[in-house]
Amino acid sequence: MSKHVLIVEDDTDISRLLRLELEEAGYRVSCFDTGMRGLAAIRQERPDLVILDLGLPDLSGAEIARRVRHTDPTPIVILTARDDVETKVAMLNAGADDYLAKPFHMEELLARVGVQLRKHGGGQPTRIGDLLIDALRRQVFWGEAEVRLSPREFELLQYLASQPGRVYGREEIERSVWGGDLPLASNVVDVHVANIRAKLREAGGFGVIRTVRGVGYAIKG
Ligand code: CA
Repeated sequence: MSKHVLIVEDDTDISRLLRLELEEAGYRVSCFDTGMRGLAAIRQERPDLVILDLGLPDLSGAEIARRVRHTDPTPIVILTARDDVETKVAMLNAGADDYLAKPFHMEELLARVGVQLRKHGGGQPTRIGDLLIDALRRQVFWGEAEVRLSPREFELLQYLASQPGRVYGREEIERSVWGGDLPLASNVVDVHVANIRAKLREAGGFGVIRTVRGVGYAIKG
């Protein structure tokens, strides 16, 4: 199931653009234009990630972050028109996981959203058919059977599962899972995929990761 991103932003041009880009990237998106509506929706809808505008007409983004943080580990990315150190510190103190100054590049926002979702695993375990990935406990199950992965195998599987059906190129995987510090023409990604496949098969999971010849890998969507 695709990850749910909830946006609280009173500038409808920005929220419309965010919605478009995030949906294009495979996320499910809902938008709210006041702090009170946003806060109520966060509690009700339990999104995987929240994007908050700092300057809202009623509650500030920082106030919302503080209230959410009280009860909820959902990752929060704040958008701000102010880029001074005091603002940054205040936002982090309020419980924001990341922040971005406006105007921002959409690619940077998407990258940061991806990082936060992977880091937090969205709180809820990810289920794709019989495959269950519990990021909080760092456990993987195929049906009832636990699949014991190494930390790197876990990260790779979690990365592929962040958008089921999407084909991830080898270089993309290297950059995201290994931070890009693999030797050139290394086959480390392929070796790790082979290991994950073998472990999944042992638990009864066949054909979970698809090879896209000449490109990379995708998890069955
Ligand atoms: Ca605003």
